[in-house]
Amino acid sequence: MKFQLNQTTIRLHQGDITQVAAEAIVNAANSALASGGGVDGAIHRVGGPAILAECRQIKGGCPTGSAVSTTAGRLPAQRVIHTVGPVWQGGRKQEAKLLGSAYSAALFLAEEEGLTSIAFPALSTGAYGYPAEEACAVALAAVLGHLQWETVLREVIFVLFSGRDYALYQTHLQQLLATEPNLRLLANEA
Ligand code: ADP
Repeated sequence: MKFQLNQTTIRLHQGDITQVAAEAIVNAANSALASGGGVDGAIHRVGGPAILAECRQIKGGCPTGSAVSTTAGRLPAQRVIHTVGPVWQGGRKQEAKLLGSAYSAALFLAEEEGLTSIAFPALSTGAYGYPAEEACAVALAAVLGHLQWETVLREVIFVLFSGRDYALYQTHLQQLLATEPNLRLLANEA
């Protein structure tokens, strides 16, 4: 499904983020930038050892809510943007603010590097336990908020692993059509 907001296309895609040929793909990393499971495991497995080798050079790792970039190794992307969402602790530990900040930090970094397309997984909703629906609302608010301003980004892709998450994003974006005057539907098919 495709939407348009100002100059940028917002696309929903169900599948594996390592196969997406966006200029930047976003990794759901941990603060130590050590290799983990989920999206992170897949990115390192498919992208090869060059990604972790660069991660190890980054002093101080990546605090929650921030982002750093590395080579994409053998992935079809040009760069991997590693960003760290919060671990869900019940909702009163600034989780929403930190999750929004993880999305924004990745968008700012992509722009700084002149990358025009970026693909996000559903940050924090796997091992970090963030409830899918709340995380979807935060992700869309952060991205749509960012796209209100001048940007070099021409495409933002939300890559959802499960059909359930895809449907969640679809419903939420369709609801936003009513309240977001600059958002319009481009195509119904995936
Ligand atoms: P976190 O530690 O931030 O929770 P995870 O990688 O455990 O990150 O999970 C984040 C989300 O990414 C989950 O919804 C999970 O189902 C999904 N996911 C796992 N592997 C992939 C993949 N290869 N491509 C896209 N999404 C994935």
